[in-house]
Amino acid sequence: MTLQTDIDTAAAQLKGKTPQEVLTWALGNYKNISLASSFGAEDVTLIDMIAKIKPDAHVFTLDTGRLNSETYDVIAKVQQKYPQLQLRIMFPQAEAVEQMVSAKGINLFYDSVENRKQCCFIRKVEPLGRATKGLDAWITGLRRDQTANRSTMETVELDGDRNIAKINPLIDWTNEQVWDYIRANDVPYNALHDQNFPSIGCAPCTRAIQAGEDLRAGRWWWEMSNQECGLHVTSDGRLVRAKDV
Ligand code: SF4
Repeated sequence: MTLQTDIDTAAAQLKGKTPQEVLTWALGNYKNISLASSFGAEDVTLIDMIAKIKPDAHVFTLDTGRLNSETYDVIAKVQQKYPQLQLRIMFPQAEAVEQMVSAKGINLFYDSVENRKQCCFIRKVEPLGRATKGLDAWITGLRRDQTANRSTMETVELDGDRNIAKINPLIDWTNEQVWDYIRANDVPYNALHDQNFPSIGCAPCTRAIQAGEDLRAGRWWWEMSNQECGLHVTSDGRLVRAKDV
């Protein structure tokens, strides 16, 4: 049986299951599995759910060096509330960052799409590659209604670039369900969410959104056409989906 067949079978079996049921299955089924967390609302929701199933589960985060202080505050609160969690904080390669900012300036991303992609590659995509190396599966907080691009994603998919499973337990949840869970379970969350930041990335590349705007409209707002950073995109620029392989 191929990995794709396994994943298709699992996806069919997990249809209609709760996020906790999906997580219980995933944490029991894969030996080397980790949650990728940026400590946004969806990720802290998953952290709370995971900690109740397997308190010493693995979580990794990408510290790009350009995060908001509110993001570091919520990381500290999560570490305090869930002390058994195995949190791995990934940093970019110092030499690559030094070369990039020396050659192109500290805020190079505003100058061109090419520069923004280079910065995202060095600060996020390359560290993500190291964080997922050796994993059988990774868990994300993606939701189908976050962007049109994510509307076709599944609960369990094949990450074709890494040839591992990608688990999206909240894919069917709405923003309201996430916030109901956070409030009901007293989950620590990023204070920027209270200032109209539904999606939080690096400080210079994220702004608050206006009423009626897309939930990810505050990311790389000056480009208008691209609200994905490359973490959920294949090497040839497509979104990772089961049908992509
Ligand atoms: S979001 Fe902005 S600062 Fe962060 S890695 Fe991408 S371009 Fe660089």
